[in-house]
Amino acid sequence: MSADPHCIFCKIVAGQIPAKKVYEDEDILAFHDIHPWAPVHILIIPKLHIASMVDAGLQHQALLGKMMAVSPQLMRELGVTNGYRHVMNTGADGRQEVPHVHLHVMGGPRPWLKG
Ligand code: 5GP
Ligand code: ZN
Repeated sequence: MSADPHCIFCKIVAGQIPAKKVYEDEDILAFHDIHPWAPVHILIIPKLHIASMVDAGLQHQALLGKMMAVSPQLMRELGVTNGYRHVMNTGADGRQEVPHVHLHVMGGPRPWLKG
């Protein structure tokens, strides 16, 4: 399934729900998290609906690699100069809340709300 009509992040990809976008290309989208844990907290998602990393495989290598590889450029553009965290939550025990793969990238001066 390339998009799930009930998925909140697919709706952001489709422009049906607004988001503060920081990057977009044909494969991926990055936007600010609505409840940031850190001064800068973005989510990088594939445009393709993949519910969680449980459903990912080697066929998604380029897509997942792109999400990780674009993150330094985005954090530089957002003025983060002292390091950041990448987090990806998977499934119930991973405390994943939104069932569409997303990479959290968090940075900025501490203290942070969480993490
Ligand atoms: P998870 O717990 O699934 O790894 O993280 C989901 C993240 O998505 C949370 O940090 C939450 O604040 C964020 N989020 C949930 N709904 C929305 C939304 O509608 N817009 C934006 N920008 N972020 C959202
Ligand atoms: Zn989705």
